[in-house]
Amino acid sequence: NTFADIDLGEGLNENIKRCKYVKPTPIQRHAIPIVVAGRDLMACAQTGSGKTAAFCLPVISGILNSRLARPMPQHGSRTACPVALILSPTRELSIQIYDEAKKFAYQTVIKVVVSYGGAPMCQQLRNLERGVDILVATPGRLIDMIERGRISLNMIKYLTLDEADRMLDMGFEPQIRKIVDQMGMPPPGARQTMLFSATFPCEIQKLASEFLSNYIFLSV
Ligand code: AMP
Repeated sequence: NTFADIDLGEGLNENIKRCKYVKPTPIQRHAIPIVVAGRDLMACAQTGSGKTAAFCLPVISGILNSRLARPMPQHGSRTACPVALILSPTRELSIQIYDEAKKFAYQTVIKVVVSYGGAPMCQQLRNLERGVDILVATPGRLIDMIERGRISLNMIKYLTLDEADRMLDMGFEPQIRKIVDQMGMPPPGARQTMLFSATFPCEIQKLASEFLSNYIFLSV
């Protein structure tokens, strides 16, 4: 019933303590072991449930354990190759996720970068050039950066769709499909996908059946 029981590793437990999180919330208690075990996940969780940590912590732990962080330092390449992508509907939510992920990745090798629309590209591009393991992004800006050759999704091992229902409400379905298509069909077990949504209407169920494989459904 504590974070230490979930066994995310020493460094990560220290960072969780630094955030003053004592007990995992229900979504964290159930989702983290599922993702750590390598399974795809569809989770119904509201804002305020602690869902951000529920998907950030196992991804950070997984990257650290498998030494996935920046696998190919491509000298001279201006194309960033993150291993984890977190898609979120809005700039505000992206910044919240980024802030939380950065606290968990504190004093580790993991670099977290955020890219969102409605802001100049140049600073976001400079941040990408310094290296990125976990990219938090809104769909439109991400596609723009892919088309400019500044981001490649070839190395993505963890894909998280946060507030998927809101992304569909905002009309992002074509962009989401384009982004997932970019990654191609992974060999079994090569990529893990987590879909978080406050509601579970049939459009979300359809997305889950297309994007997730052999997934566990969680509702808290
Ligand atoms: P979220 O649902 O991810 O937006 O999180 C809602 C708020 O709860 C955020 O301010 C988090 O920092 C906080 N939070 C998340 N998990 C915990 C936890 N286990 N203990 C205390 N606070 C938490």
